[in-house]
Amino acid sequence: MKIIILLTLLIQGLLALDSEGQCSANRAECTSKSSPYQKDANSILSQIKAANKTYTPCPKEKDDGCSCHTSVIERDLAPFNPTGITKEAIESVLSYGTKYQIVDHTLYRQKACMFPSRCSGIEHFIKPLLKELPNMEMVVNCRDWPQIMRDRGPKGPVLSFSKTADYLDIMYPAWSFWEGGPAIALHPTGIGRWDKYRNSISMAGKKWPWEDKIGKGFFRGSRTSDERDSLVLLSRKNLDLVDAQYTKNQAWKSPKDTLNAEPASEVTFEDHCQYKYLFNFRGVAASFRFKHLFLCKSLVFHVGSEWNEFFYFAMKPWVHYVPIKSYPTEQELESILLFFKEHDDIAKEIAQNGYKFIWKHLKLSDVQCYWRKLLTDYGKLMRYDVEVDKNLKKIA
Ligand code: UDP
Repeated sequence: MKIIILLTLLIQGLLALDSEGQCSANRAECTSKSSPYQKDANSILSQIKAANKTYTPCPKEKDDGCSCHTSVIERDLAPFNPTGITKEAIESVLSYGTKYQIVDHTLYRQKACMFPSRCSGIEHFIKPLLKELPNMEMVVNCRDWPQIMRDRGPKGPVLSFSKTADYLDIMYPAWSFWEGGPAIALHPTGIGRWDKYRNSISMAGKKWPWEDKIGKGFFRGSRTSDERDSLVLLSRKNLDLVDAQYTKNQAWKSPKDTLNAEPASEVTFEDHCQYKYLFNFRGVAASFRFKHLFLCKSLVFHVGSEWNEFFYFAMKPWVHYVPIKSYPTEQELESILLFFKEHDDIAKEIAQNGYKFIWKHLKLSDVQCYWRKLLTDYGKLMRYDVEVDKNLKKIA
């Protein structure tokens, strides 16, 4: 039904333009024939229309939950199908992550973990599965950056939370769904549990219904990637359109690290909900903020499509969020913001679609389900008998 309403709005939007792409008089957004956004607007409208036409929603879950996402597991494990996971393959990548074993339903891990709370966030999801999992050995990368290049270096199996198409790492749901999330001044022990955020941010979203939200773009975060600069610079020129400011992170030394300005105060995810348009950018790898932004029922602008987490693939650009090309210029950002300010119904519809997707298909139980399917399928690929490595410590 919603899709039909959206399509009707789109068709009305398109009909408001005559054959030469000029505006007819009865549409508020088309009053200026010299609008520099006219051509872009037509293109955006057709992309939204096409995306909705071809989108097949995930089926209503009646199984254990994560069927929207499981094709990612098949794709990531496919390179290992021909040979299976051999001892040699594991040994070739031991230095790329933390070694884990499951033997006789017991979990073992190498004694040192580079980021203990990240390991703990990972183990939280593996422990409940031990009863049902076969013996296996795996290398889990807890760093932000993926490890196994498609075109060079060893090709053994390494599990990582995020990657681009250039990497062969096998994606797992990040530790931060449970613990080990980034530590910021607001959350010195790390950004907290996803299940709790689902409730608190969506409550904040209710306090700020679409009609009451401030109609401007919003971003707070550190300069982990300079891809964020153009939005921050646009904000410095036009604070009525977008409020985007850099905050400190642990590496901050001087205003140079916040693009020659004093760092801004941090803003909670809940307070992001005041704004209609929220921006996501990659950081070192994918940024954890992406999933949180949808819970506000604000419209999410997702810049760049290279960096992914496991759940990104089930979300569709223009249906659930607004895709923006990598390294957008200030003018491109201004143009897309103005488009959605002028097409408020469409903005609201996409915001609601994004919220519904995350609410229905990214529950903590979906994350647990993904881990189950991932390790079950991974276990089926094991081609040798795993014996307990005496150098490892028993975790559970
Ligand atoms: N963050 C936040 N409020 C702020 C600044 C950051 O909630 O004012 C969150 C942000 O959404 C992300 C995490 O802190 O989930 C780290 O953000 P940062 O921009 O420093 O790094 P990123 O991980 O995005 O590269």
